[in-house]
Amino acid sequence: MYGEVVMGVAAPSEHDELPFDRILDDIKRAHGASRDQDLDEAALREAVARFKAEIAKLTGTAFPDDVATQLWGAIGAVFASWNNPRADYYRKLHGIPSTMGTAVNVQAMVFGNLGDDCATGVAFTRNPATGTAELYGEFLTNAQGEDVVAGIRTPEPISELAKKLPKAHAELVRVARLLEDHFRDMQDLEFTIQAGELFMLQTRSGKRTGKAMVKVAVDMVGENKLTPREAVLRIDPAKLDEVLHPTIDPRARPPAIAKGLPASPGAAIGKIVFTANAAKEWAERGETVLLVRTDTSPEDIHGMKAASGILTSRGGMTSHAAVVARGMGKCCVTSCTSLRVDAARRTAAFVGGGQERRIKEGDTLTLDGSSGEVFLGSAPLVPAELGNELGTLMQWVDSFRKLQVRTNADTPTDARTARSFGAEGIGLCRTEHMFFQPERILAVREMILAGDEAGRRAALAKILPMQRGDFAELFRVMDGLPVTIRLLDPPLHEFLPHGAGEIEEVAAALGKPAAAVAAKVAELTETNPMLGHRGCRLAITFPEIYEIPARAIAEAAAEVHAAGVAVHPEIMIPLVMVPEELRRLRELVARVVDSALGGAKIAYTIGTMIELPRACVVADQIAAHAEFFSFGTNDLTQTTYGLSRDDAGRFLPAYLDAGVLATDPFAVLDPEGVGALIELAVRGGRSVKPDLKVGICGEHGGDPTSVVFCHRAGLNYVSCSPFRVPIARVAAALAALAETPGKK
Ligand code: PEP
Ligand code: MG
Repeated sequence: MYGEVVMGVAAPSEHDELPFDRILDDIKRAHGASRDQDLDEAALREAVARFKAEIAKLTGTAFPDDVATQLWGAIGAVFASWNNPRADYYRKLHGIPSTMGTAVNVQAMVFGNLGDDCATGVAFTRNPATGTAELYGEFLTNAQGEDVVAGIRTPEPISELAKKLPKAHAELVRVARLLEDHFRDMQDLEFTIQAGELFMLQTRSGKRTGKAMVKVAVDMVGENKLTPREAVLRIDPAKLDEVLHPTIDPRARPPAIAKGLPASPGAAIGKIVFTANAAKEWAERGETVLLVRTDTSPEDIHGMKAASGILTSRGGMTSHAAVVARGMGKCCVTSCTSLRVDAARRTAAFVGGGQERRIKEGDTLTLDGSSGEVFLGSAPLVPAELGNELGTLMQWVDSFRKLQVRTNADTPTDARTARSFGAEGIGLCRTEHMFFQPERILAVREMILAGDEAGRRAALAKILPMQRGDFAELFRVMDGLPVTIRLLDPPLHEFLPHGAGEIEEVAAALGKPAAAVAAKVAELTETNPMLGHRGCRLAITFPEIYEIPARAIAEAAAEVHAAGVAVHPEIMIPLVMVPEELRRLRELVARVVDSALGGAKIAYTIGTMIELPRACVVADQIAAHAEFFSFGTNDLTQTTYGLSRDDAGRFLPAYLDAGVLATDPFAVLDPEGVGALIELAVRGGRSVKPDLKVGICGEHGGDPTSVVFCHRAGLNYVSCSPFRVPIARVAAALAALAETPGKK
């Protein structure tokens, strides 16, 4: 270990073992020993001599014999570790500033490897996977801590310690409770037992799954250890993702090919790869991958991050793969002992019962991180279910938050999911997304490619009944809640037919020669479609493009209203740059809606998206024509930065790597630029209409940091994708709680 950590001896490549492991394996083989402790003194002397020779050969430096030199070497290595690439990556992942620095703690050694009345282990004061209140962990007798973490020998569960070393176990139980009560949080403990006496090496707040995070927080309120406010403050909204993720459908569960330890819950399906670099490369190509390894080490972090699940043949519940995957909220199965991995050949096999099932890179597996099972191919998944504890937590969350949370939903299925997650309305229905099915997209293409108003009206007439049906269903699902429907905003490049096949299909539908359609496509092709003929610009030039969908909304509303559904339509006009656009289109939409409602008493509103810097600056003038604003921060970020949404991915990673940008502004709202424009627009809008309702429906609406910004900027609601609704609710509560520090 000193050779590796202090003197920098490394494995020759990702596929190889450390030289020390190779030497020790050699010696064990030569002596017929299966475990390290089976080696006799002579064999150990041989190992030491060969280790020293290897170090001298590889580093050009002799292994130091002087104890003070060794100690200073070790101290130096701890300080140096702050700047190694793994630490750097970890800090980036967790937003820890690299200027913080580290400390070194020097203490007397205790030994867990002096005999069978000695042991070492790690324990959690509660189960870190489920949150159940039980002392949970693993130990090895006659071993040192590194042996447990490295996952080389399979450790025993803590309950066995009660049988083997009962006095030390009783003491561990007592100390664990004391520490948890003192810190009022689940603790992650490291201990060593030397000659029957317990020594605590370390305690810290324990990493846990999303599920355990919720259960521990709620249970501790029940145990009078925390107040509801403190419990909510313990929640990391981003981690709720795990609680909300799919599991394997219990009714269609295929037989498992293998079973390991359920190290981190959730289910994952992916193509298998055998190295961290392959995981990263495949994921960058858009593949969903599972990282399959004998075991993982800190060198694998980038691959683990890129993978959707991790499977190892060795390790335990507290080995590297398990702890890191749990921290990342990824499904992970460790210690799948029937798995043999041959990373160099990019193959593996499940062996057992005299059979062998070979798999190779690119094959698909499904992992169940909650049961530890592994399945060949892809197993059917079902959406997550919210448990009782989450319900309790969310009641507290809702009592603290001021921001409302709506959802972006284009289909009734999305709307239903979001409602079950607590969405308080739809903040954005992108109507063009209702047309991605093949039979529908044809009608939209017909409309876009029509040469005149009559052609467009004919295509829109086909769209009208489909839209009416969709809107009616959305209104029914969201009964009693507001539904914001955005009128068409198709960036033309997403909807024009691509390639000869699609052109011929549209030509047939239009009854026109393919060449004529191809010519029209060429004519409509824009150099910069994101800044092109999209949004309300389409309706300024061709009013029927808003007129007919507005009618569909009103007719749907009238229909469901007649059936007793409480409908609250909010009609939203996108990409407004000058107030005159909104004035005209609002007048048009209101006229159509009023006439189509035919006297039905339905209160509807008409508002606008704020997606362009100019709209922010003249927001006071725009507000004169709007009953609400919704910030489209995807476009507002694009236009504020002058950074194409579609192309930024090509160079943004380089900016992030080089630290030119601290975060991706499309993921986390930029408070200084985009945020300043939002604040300007809120002020401008409310200077004209003090009660103007203001929300956000860009992707940022589901990002916890951005939600906090929205709270501070005085928005009424955030709108985000269905699975992020609980995350946004928690983030909104945290934002509100941060304003009243110290209050119970
Ligand atoms: C936005 O721009 O933020 C938005 C919600 O609209 P879209 O992503 O559809 O352009
Ligand atoms: Mg937009």
